[in-house]
Amino acid sequence: MEWTQRLTQILHNPPLLQEPLSRHTSIQVGGPADFLVYPQNLDELQSVLQLAFEQDIPFFILGNGSNLLVRDEGYRGIVISLTACCAGCYFMEDTVRVGAAVSLSWLAGEFARRGYRGLEFAAGIPGSLGGAIFMNAGAFGSCIGELVQEVVTMDFKGCRQKRSRQELSFAYRWSNFQAEDVIILEAALSLQAGDPEEIKHNMERMLSERKARHPQQPSAGSVFRNPPGGAGYLIEQAGLKGMVIGGAQISPRHGNFIINLGNATAADVLSLIRLARDRVLEQFGIELEPEIRIIGGNGKDRGEKG
Ligand SMILES: Cc1cc2nc3c(=O)[nH]c(=O)nc-3n(C[C@H](O)[C@H](O)[C@H](O)COP(=O)(O)OP(=O)(O)OC[C@H]3O[C@@H](n4cnc5c(N)ncnc54)[C@H](O)[C@@H]3O)c2cc1C
Repeated sequence: MEWTQRLTQILHNPPLLQEPLSRHTSIQVGGPADFLVYPQNLDELQSVLQLAFEQDIPFFILGNGSNLLVRDEGYRGIVISLTACCAGCYFMEDTVRVGAAVSLSWLAGEFARRGYRGLEFAAGIPGSLGGAIFMNAGAFGSCIGELVQEVVTMDFKGCRQKRSRQELSFAYRWSNFQAEDVIILEAALSLQAGDPEEIKHNMERMLSERKARHPQQPSAGSVFRNPPGGAGYLIEQAGLKGMVIGGAQISPRHGNFIINLGNATAADVLSLIRLARDRVLEQFGIELEPEIRIIGGNGKDRGEKG
């Protein structure tokens, strides 16, 4: 039997074929995936991974697509969404167990509603918990890694493992998961009670700062990791704020965001990325390193860093 037939047999919901990934990324750019699949439970996910492993088919885990640039050629292989199989959220006495597909922003709201502090920074970050842990998402001096107590993973052969905090490491926009072949299924985050009024106030302040600083048009968040001084400042000093290539623009509001003006292609976005890198290197001797993950075409499967 063809492996594609086996894939269809494994899945309760048929795979989407040649699905444009522009529909699944916040910047609304990206060519089609051969297959986009939504395993309904962990057994289905395990079977998909085993099939991909046996047949040597590339696959990619899609979170909310908010830090992702998919090349125009699309993705040759299987894109896996965990939205159906990792969507639970259970509050306990001093921890909360959260599925990888749960929205980080929703979780921040839930923390605030229940009077737990520490996740206010995440309100307005449009990722999933899994993507946030993978990227160690953060803002306003805090990051998700500070709250993580335990992570449950599945490796690329379908084996599950529980990892305690001591076995994990986080740094600026980096987690050990970027160097491993595993999928984040679920995490336990620590809960710390705080003053509900103060939490609400902090969250509203951060949200309104975010609104004032960030562009409203479709984007993939910060394009580059911040060197000292900030990538946005360096790009602005290089005279590139507002620069347009095709349908993409370096945001006139924030130099480290590239926005889709309506008809951007990944090639447009990549041209702006190259231009910003070259100009900043030329003028300041600083090499900007992309924060966004780039996949598809001849990119690496898990999303190369640029
Ligand atoms: C308007 C805007 C504002 C933003 N603000 C911030 C900010 O303040 N701080 C910040 O840190 N980021 C910010 N971002 C970037 C982005 O939201 C975060 O990096 C987010 O954590 C990415 O999560 P995601 O689910 O969208 O991941 P995706 O973009 O879908 O994927 C990113 C990477 O994570 C991997 N991944 C996703 N889920 C899993 C999983 N379950 N297991 C293993 N790997 C996985 C993917 O394979 C990919 O390599 C912003 C983005 C936008 C568009």
